[in-house]
Amino acid sequence: EDEDKYNVCTACSILCDDIEIETENNSITGVYTACRKGVSRIQTCNEPMPCTLDGKETDVDTTISETANILKKSENPLIFGLGNSTEGAQKKAIELAKQLNANLDDTSSFCQGPVVEAILNGEINYTCTLDDVRNNADVIVYWGADPANSHPRHLSKYTYFPRGKNRQKGYDEDRTAIAIDVRESSTAEICGNNSYLIPPQKDEELIDALIDALSGKVPKVSFEMNKKRILELANILKKAKYGVIFAGLGLVYSLDNLEPIKRLMDKLNEVSNFYFNPMIGHYNMRGFNQNLFNETGYINRVKFEDSEVKHGYKYSVVELLKNKSVDSALIIGSDPMCSLPGSIARNLNEIPIITIDPCETLTSRKSRINIPSALSGVECGGSAIRMDGVRVNFEPMIETSKISDEEILRRVMEEL
Ligand code: SF4
Repeated sequence: EDEDKYNVCTACSILCDDIEIETENNSITGVYTACRKGVSRIQTCNEPMPCTLDGKETDVDTTISETANILKKSENPLIFGLGNSTEGAQKKAIELAKQLNANLDDTSSFCQGPVVEAILNGEINYTCTLDDVRNNADVIVYWGADPANSHPRHLSKYTYFPRGKNRQKGYDEDRTAIAIDVRESSTAEICGNNSYLIPPQKDEELIDALIDALSGKVPKVSFEMNKKRILELANILKKAKYGVIFAGLGLVYSLDNLEPIKRLMDKLNEVSNFYFNPMIGHYNMRGFNQNLFNETGYINRVKFEDSEVKHGYKYSVVELLKNKSVDSALIIGSDPMCSLPGSIARNLNEIPIITIDPCETLTSRKSRINIPSALSGVECGGSAIRMDGVRVNFEPMIETSKISDEEILRRVMEEL
């Protein structure tokens, strides 16, 4: 056993790289330093995916040939998922989509996509790395995010609790954590007095009230929130030497567009020093967005057509399924039956679905073909882009006879 070897957890997009494990006979017998979410991913799925064709168990070669057959016949295929895949698999999927003239989309299409896009095309500047946050941040704002549940080590490893190069005194003296949310989340509890509850859909109003307060004007909001509380919050933000806003889905969903965020960031950087980062869920959603962006200039919702790339809402998984315009779906490491609204997901039942995943999902139960893949980070290595844009490489923790999704996609392409 190599005791100095650290491993990377791929259960969320912090990609903690300090995980210690214990193995015996090529199976994991202990996981240390990971949070409970990480431990449960690393200790593998409760329900590993069987290799099936039309509900009957078969071998991988047969499922790969049949996948190639379906895709060859398909006039308008959809490739969806890849947020839980390595960059290698993502690049293969982009190649495959090109070869098939397919639609390609991922979950960012209905979550943090707009923010990642604005960062990649330079519309939102002021981003920083998690290491910068640990070393420097004195004010940390979680807006519409609950990392205590979604990214359990965010606060302890990078933001509030750890000591950093320029933050030696520990959290209560040297750092202030603030939660702004529509509910008393676990993170809000940690933030104590610095937790600000607002009604749903009032984020933009609070942003504008804060901008007013930061400009020396009297802040006004239509909901019940003491003027003093808003001034008090503005004051903390103003005094920050190195502030960061972590934007959760709660904030992104409540805004029609990103203008309010840009307004606030500009104002904050006029009066103090503030950075902005999205709280990305899947461990390599940002990798998918960046790889597709490098290739096409878009982060999601594309349709390849010979040498052309079409892009737009029309090519989002939601619209494609709603309009029933696709005639097959290749789902990689994702569970759209679970994450999409029922009325839209239902349309998947009318077309052949092929699922590549380490674990059984709602979608795999409805799939014509299921191909089990190695669990990335545990059974196969690769690289991923952390939520802050930093690339992280990882090695497999144990050996497996299962093949990676990258290899599955490569073999499908060979058979086309
Ligand atoms: Fe894994 Fe995320 Fe927990 Fe770190 S915080 S151990 S990456 S689940």
